[in-house]
Amino acid sequence: MLYSGTVDATRLVSWFDATARDLPWREPGTTPWAVLVSEVMLQQTPVARVTPVWTDWLARWPAPSSLAAEAPGTVVRAWGKLGYPRRALRLHAAATAIATDHGDVVPSDVDTLLSLPGIGAYTARAVAAFGYGARAAVVDTNVRRVVARAVHGAADAGLPSVTRDLADVDALLPTSRAARFSAALMELGAVVCTARSPRCADCPAVAECAWVRAGRPASTGPARQAQGYAGTDRQVRGRLLDVLRVAPEPVRRPQLDAVWTDHGQRDRCLGSLLADGLVEQTADGRFALPGEGC
Ligand code: SF4
Repeated sequence: MLYSGTVDATRLVSWFDATARDLPWREPGTTPWAVLVSEVMLQQTPVARVTPVWTDWLARWPAPSSLAAEAPGTVVRAWGKLGYPRRALRLHAAATAIATDHGDVVPSDVDTLLSLPGIGAYTARAVAAFGYGARAAVVDTNVRRVVARAVHGAADAGLPSVTRDLADVDALLPTSRAARFSAALMELGAVVCTARSPRCADCPAVAECAWVRAGRPASTGPARQAQGYAGTDRQVRGRLLDVLRVAPEPVRRPQLDAVWTDHGQRDRCLGSLLADGLVEQTADGRFALPGEGC
């Protein structure tokens, strides 16, 4: 038997009002620019690691124009150990476009946000919702999982489909307090309806949850692979960037070679950093963060 369910907006928002985590970018008065920075940082990095970097970032660059005025290398250095540092360059590019083309004001509508460099469907909708209170479906991994379970009765979300996922969430959005509902749905997936051990007894959506009514059927998808870090190209790229972050001037190749013994992997990672624009080479063959090689 197929079950379908829903998420009661009033109950979910009440739960969120009572239990929401105290996160700095949720404070009243947080600017749309600060929301944009938080959303880019949070995409692949946990809250605890983002919080101090976000706080320092906004103190240093309170407006898009202040970030845009920096050399990209300074921005990559400030990104620190958040990982996936191409996000720093994307944020810099978006800040430059906002400062240049939008009067230093973060756009409020999804289509204009999507026209900014490096701003994808998730970020555009999150900024419209959490920066401006717009009614916009915000779909991340956690939301897809909640919808799969609560609405469709499946243990896992399966492969993403932008059209279907947006339609699913849009159908749940209430007409009032929609942005609050979006934040609550994300919070539910992050802290209650987690991938490995959903706490249904504590869930405000349990009464209508299709997965619970179906008897919590097991996942039919492929087993989830644990993502390791040790030995990956991500680790090697991180080590190479670490050398450049602390160097007062461009470094010579042997300083980079010293961080990883597998020279094939090391060369591949250095090549990818150069291709990504995260590293540049000086005329005399040394290496530096972008904008710092002259
Ligand atoms: S936590 Fe349990 S009851 Fe709540 S949405 Fe997830 S599966 Fe359903």
